[in-house]
Amino acid sequence: MRRIGRAVVDSVLPPRCLSCGEVVDEPDALCGRCWSAITFFAPPWCVLCGLPFPHPMGEDALCGACARGRPAWDQARAVLRYDKNSRRLVLGLKHGDQTHVAAAFGRWMHRAGAEVLSGADLLIPVPLHWTRLFQRRYNQAALLAQAVRAAGGPDVAADWLVRRRRTPAQGHLGPMARERNVRSAFAMRGRRSVAGKRVVIVDDVMTTGATVEECARVLKRAGAVSVGVLTLARAVRSGA
Ligand SMILES: [Zn+2]
Ligand SMILES: [Zn+2]
Repeated sequence: MRRIGRAVVDSVLPPRCLSCGEVVDEPDALCGRCWSAITFFAPPWCVLCGLPFPHPMGEDALCGACARGRPAWDQARAVLRYDKNSRRLVLGLKHGDQTHVAAAFGRWMHRAGAEVLSGADLLIPVPLHWTRLFQRRYNQAALLAQAVRAAGGPDVAADWLVRRRRTPAQGHLGPMARERNVRSAFAMRGRRSVAGKRVVIVDDVMTTGATVEECARVLKRAGAVSVGVLTLARAVRSGA
């Protein structure tokens, strides 16, 4: 009955832009203005982290950061740039009651993450500490992982990685402080084993990368043969 009700509502109400709420032609889409304001990542990009290059640099080219020091993960991809134009879209998932938006994001991530997802066995969402999960009611990383799975991705190992202690919010912290903040914050749950598995960490936003770096270390130590990273958004420092 509820499903029928939902279908009726969907056919009566016009579809809305996922970011600003303006009426659009198709469901799960952005309006023209939001579409052109948001930067979607595309090649040519760093083969490791997916940072776009202004000019083609060759197939195996690395960005400056990846060339200076290899991350613990093997490859990362994100759908779009996290900036003032995309913040509303991305945070809509985090703070609003927009769980249906995740389905559209899952399709985007499945497409943008094709290289990372190829041959992957498991999606591992970055866990929230349970106290925060309680406040927020859901873990947006787990929601995105389920959406990527629904779009054709591998299975979700939702509770395999756990947050051992509650880390302070990272918003105001610099890169070094963020690294300290998440050090030994994660662990594998009980007897869950990623030994011999190809896993992909899923999160909503990658900022300094400290969180996924720490998760990747834990997963590699636990025997994962490859660790990918797939996020909806990624912050890019100017001059990176
Ligand atoms: Zn819009
Ligand atoms: Zn890179």
